[in-house]
Amino acid sequence: MRSQTRTRRSSSDSTSINTDVAGELLRVWADQPAIDHHCHPLRRWPFQLSPEELRGAFTEALDPQLAASHVVNTVAYRDAVRRIAAELDCDPTEAAVLAQRNAADPVGYAKGLLARTATAIMLVDTGFASADAFTLAEQEQATGITQREIVRLERLAEGLIQAADDPREWFIAVRAGLRAAVRGGAVGVKTICAYRATLKLRPVDTDALGVAFSATRLRAQRGQSPRLSGSALCQALLFEGAQECLELDVPLQVHCGFGDPDEDLAETSPLGLRPLFTDPAYRGLRVVLLHCYPYHREAAYLGSVFPDVYMDLSLAIPFAGLEGSRAMREALGLCPTSKLLYASDASRYPEVFFVAAGAYREALAGALGELVDNRILDIAAAADAGRQVLADNARRVYKLKD
Ligand SMILES: [Zn+2]
Repeated sequence: MRSQTRTRRSSSDSTSINTDVAGELLRVWADQPAIDHHCHPLRRWPFQLSPEELRGAFTEALDPQLAASHVVNTVAYRDAVRRIAAELDCDPTEAAVLAQRNAADPVGYAKGLLARTATAIMLVDTGFASADAFTLAEQEQATGITQREIVRLERLAEGLIQAADDPREWFIAVRAGLRAAVRGGAVGVKTICAYRATLKLRPVDTDALGVAFSATRLRAQRGQSPRLSGSALCQALLFEGAQECLELDVPLQVHCGFGDPDEDLAETSPLGLRPLFTDPAYRGLRVVLLHCYPYHREAAYLGSVFPDVYMDLSLAIPFAGLEGSRAMREALGLCPTSKLLYASDASRYPEVFFVAAGAYREALAGALGELVDNRILDIAAAADAGRQVLADNARRVYKLKD
């Protein structure tokens, strides 16, 4: 979140960003609390971090060779180390950062970094949590930041498949589970269909659904993992979840684009979700496209033509280095500022929340500052647009109460 005074030239075009305007926007937003509309549970502190763990937190790679040999050579990791070191006032090296953080008082250290994110509310996808992670209640207590749950559709559904006799019964149970979660305080539902099937949605093939359901239930009955996969099962579930979200008046978050190599990136464009935007049965369903990169331009297009489509750029910011800033500028080409949301997609380590928050604000300030330089916005309008992205849009889309 530090401002820079020099003028930076992007490699992708000839537009220079006047960082004085960006710096002014960052100063204006300094007291602006953010709503992080997509993140994950933190690891219960205290704990110490190894180099491999810190590196692993700033990559989507699953193969340990990447953390061992290559993450240190990514722009994202160099930038993360630089930001954390500046905050800790130590040498900008991995070794210095780790020595400093591992010697610090764990509670003060974590809370200090999280305070610098200026996050007022976290919307937490609890479907991606290990045994050493905080529960939401613990996390609220430990961080002092308001927590709201986002239910992960596939995880809920996997837990209910064994007791169902057929897909219809299963879907009834899933929808009852969603209703119970929202009654219990959840403010949205998330689907990771992109990790289990293509996002190119097709009408449900009931025969294929029946076969896939029986095979998955059998695995559950044998004590094996009931991991949902394949388009017949996962897309039918997505459609059911979407219907229930519409009835519950909560948004459906859809993982799109960038993620770990467990997904086939080629199959994760949000353009495939078209039936959700055009079928009158889903009219009024608020769909929030997560991550989006490298399909952020497609997502921005969808946000510009369909009334209830929203997007974020989490993960690309900060994992894609300056490409994240460029994605921000490209997204704001078509996407109304009333439809872009802030998210960190951070999990486990306070360092990731800290780095993501700073990088996101800087990318936002750079993109809006460029619009000021081009006299498209004045500085007051740019500041207001930033407030929409940082908090107002999420408050409205998720109907959050103070
Ligand atoms: Zn996530």
